[in-house]
Amino acid sequence: MFESYSGYRLLLKLVMWMAPWALLGLLVDQLALCLLIGSWLLLFWHYRHLNKLAHWLWHDRRLTPPHGSGSWEPIFNGIYRLQGKNRRRRAQLARLLSRFREGAEALPDAAMVLGPEGQILWSNQLAEHILGIRWPQDAGNRIHNLLRHPRFVKYWNKRRFSEPLELVSPVNDSWLLEVRIMAYGDSQRLLVARDVTRLRQLEQMRRDFVANVSHELKTPLTVLQGYVEMMQMTCDPESMQGRQFKAMEEQSVRMKTLIDRLLTLSRIESSTDLDLERPVDIPALMSTIQQEGETLAAGSHQLVFEVDPELKVYGDEMQLHSACANLVQNAIRYTPPGGEIRVSWRRNGERARFEVQDQGEGIAPEHLPRLTERFYRVDKARSRDTGGSGLGLAIVKHALNHHNSQLEISSVVGQGSRFAFELPATLVVQKAS
Ligand code: ADP
Repeated sequence: MFESYSGYRLLLKLVMWMAPWALLGLLVDQLALCLLIGSWLLLFWHYRHLNKLAHWLWHDRRLTPPHGSGSWEPIFNGIYRLQGKNRRRRAQLARLLSRFREGAEALPDAAMVLGPEGQILWSNQLAEHILGIRWPQDAGNRIHNLLRHPRFVKYWNKRRFSEPLELVSPVNDSWLLEVRIMAYGDSQRLLVARDVTRLRQLEQMRRDFVANVSHELKTPLTVLQGYVEMMQMTCDPESMQGRQFKAMEEQSVRMKTLIDRLLTLSRIESSTDLDLERPVDIPALMSTIQQEGETLAAGSHQLVFEVDPELKVYGDEMQLHSACANLVQNAIRYTPPGGEIRVSWRRNGERARFEVQDQGEGIAPEHLPRLTERFYRVDKARSRDTGGSGLGLAIVKHALNHHNSQLEISSVVGQGSRFAFELPATLVVQKAS
């Protein structure tokens, strides 16, 4: 065991060293001289040990400290202990680092640590494979000088990384990558890229399948509808046969609505690269929606439209029409006759806000998060009775996503619901000054 440092013992040793010199000084009546000699010898002894220590720290390769005596022994031992502790910590840290590296290499995604200006600080092997980064040759190079795809450069320069970016791999044109960038440590960033080619292919296949099936079903259905109408004309509507034809007609209309909605949804879903440069005359769109609403309500509801006649936005007219019309039609279909439906289109600060408030039965809170899922209906029977397909809000959600907006739903059971969305300031057409 090392002798540990003690201030008391140090003082005792000093006294024990100086006491004989003081005694000798008293005996020969030369107290000051003897104390001076004692002090000089002590100083010399300390200087020797200091020299030993400096030599060991700067020149000696040995790990063990030089032999120290007296008060220097605990100091040498203390330094030795500290060094041992540091060595163990360094080894621990190195082990941790190598485990982290092994873990990062085992990741199924390409991962890179970037500095504040995008300098590559570290990258795993998959980053070399799918992003074409050469490690360690590219260490310190800026990421946007290596991934020169214009979409990536724009994404990087904007520094808004809340949404992932889809990018074609610079190594292979047929690979589609999803790139995410996250804040990491002290103003560093972690870039993670994964291959989503298969996922996107499957999604595309599903969309194509739904679109193709819906399209293929449309032709035979139109033929059947035509025959049903013809046969309806040849028989008495009150007879048994007449009532059966009526039911057939109603069901075929429902099926046609469903197919049309599926087609609309797949068209909206697949239009990812929208041109949001064209101004849409929303006030004109609102009067069309009002007319459609009045036809659907057939006088049973009161529709109140408050529209800012100057407020136009950039966007896709078909999608914005679908979104607003679906919300207004839902409000009518889920509000009992006699109820009032208020629709407003107005500015909210820099943004444009659309809102539909109804006096319907309302929706229980547990259903709200799932309403925009395809075919999700709170009350299936009720939805069917009102001619619902379960696709309306899914259409709204996708159309709004393409306009950087989200559907806000608030509802109180028994009082009514409010469906609203806001379009960002960048999409609002500024008035010519
Ligand atoms: P649907 O065609 O069945 O109306 P949607 O996707 O448009 O399908 O709506 C999904 C479900 O959300 C509806 O089935 C209904 O239960 C509920 N819902 C939508 N709008 C309203 C509303 N204004 N009031 C009450 N419930 C609503």
